[in-house]
Amino acid sequence: MIRLTIPDIDEEDIAAVNAVLRSGFLVQGKYVAAFEDAVASYVGIRHAVAVSNCTAALHLSLIALGIGEGDAVAVSAYSWPATANVVELVGAVPKFVDIDKETYNLDPQALEQVLLENDVKAVLAVHAFGNPADMRRILALTQAMNVPVVEDAACALGSRLHNRFAGTWGAIGCFSFHPRKAITTGEGGMIVTDDSKVADACRALRNHGQDPNAAQSDFLFPGFNMRMTDFQGALGVSQMKKIEQHVTERRIRAAHYGDLLRGTNVQVPAIHDDPRHNYQSYVILLPSRAAERRDRIIVGLRKRGIETTIGTYNIASTSFYSKKYGADRASYPITDEIAARALTLPLHEQLSTSGQDYVVRCLLRLLHESADLPPEERVSEPLNP
Ligand SMILES: *Cc1c(COP(=O)(O)O)cnc(C)c1O
Repeated sequence: MIRLTIPDIDEEDIAAVNAVLRSGFLVQGKYVAAFEDAVASYVGIRHAVAVSNCTAALHLSLIALGIGEGDAVAVSAYSWPATANVVELVGAVPKFVDIDKETYNLDPQALEQVLLENDVKAVLAVHAFGNPADMRRILALTQAMNVPVVEDAACALGSRLHNRFAGTWGAIGCFSFHPRKAITTGEGGMIVTDDSKVADACRALRNHGQDPNAAQSDFLFPGFNMRMTDFQGALGVSQMKKIEQHVTERRIRAAHYGDLLRGTNVQVPAIHDDPRHNYQSYVILLPSRAAERRDRIIVGLRKRGIETTIGTYNIASTSFYSKKYGADRASYPITDEIAARALTLPLHEQLSTSGQDYVVRCLLRLLHESADLPPEERVSEPLNP
């Protein structure tokens, strides 16, 4: 099976986790602190606060910024539902923003419209699949109105824009260490910020409201338990040593897919030195007329031993949000189109060049076969990787 992704766990990672397990000190401690330092110094920011996952990171970020009951928060319509869910979880109201056709990120023009029409208290900008959003244009709009931006950089550790890392542009950036992301701690998240008040608030919020700076234990407000374990921290430290290599390996494979698919009717993500996309997910667009066959193409690829997925949605049209806000599909036409045509291809460091050739050969064959035949009948010969 050519897997969509395989987390890169080596013997050094396993030894790092084992050492913590043997030590008997399992909850947040010195390895979590070391992981925070490693991420902060890598992306070049003052504070990093590790939490249990990126959803927790986004949730605490909104609370730390004082976002609450009834506040409007602008959110990219095309994302994993967590991005909008955290807005609901603090009692605020998501105002969905349509995306750009090429980058799948917040369309600054659509954002401007939402900012003009609503009293927006914060913007949640997603770096879709690791591709940096146009932070200069987004910040030019929000800074004029004094609206803080939280970057959902869940997929974007190691991605850069104008030589500055994704996650370090807005008031707060949030990373994920889920196994599908650039590096992994199983589950895990990180809040990064230059604002020490925000960092302190997040440190208290993740740990029952305990004052992170008090000499004598004190509790400032009812907080959560959203801590990371110390063995995850140790895994994070070990994984961080490989982040640049990961990005390089992924970019090589993204470039090869781009070469293989050039001149076909499949749209591929662009390859640039700036922005530097980490290709956490390699997402192609099927031709419009093949979009309705996407499920059958996924099944056809699986029969040939290739795992592909959809994975990202028009959040406004999922049942919770469409029922609550009656989202009109026509309001987010680009998100709708991209969500209907997108397909994530396998991409990981164990994927060989010939594996990629096979993936593309199978994909193109399935695309060009008759749409009327059921998938079983279209597989005329078994193909081997
Ligand atoms: C993965 C992901 C999340 C959630 O991260 P977790 O660590 O799984 O909570 C949020 N937003 C985006 C864009 C993601 O891709």
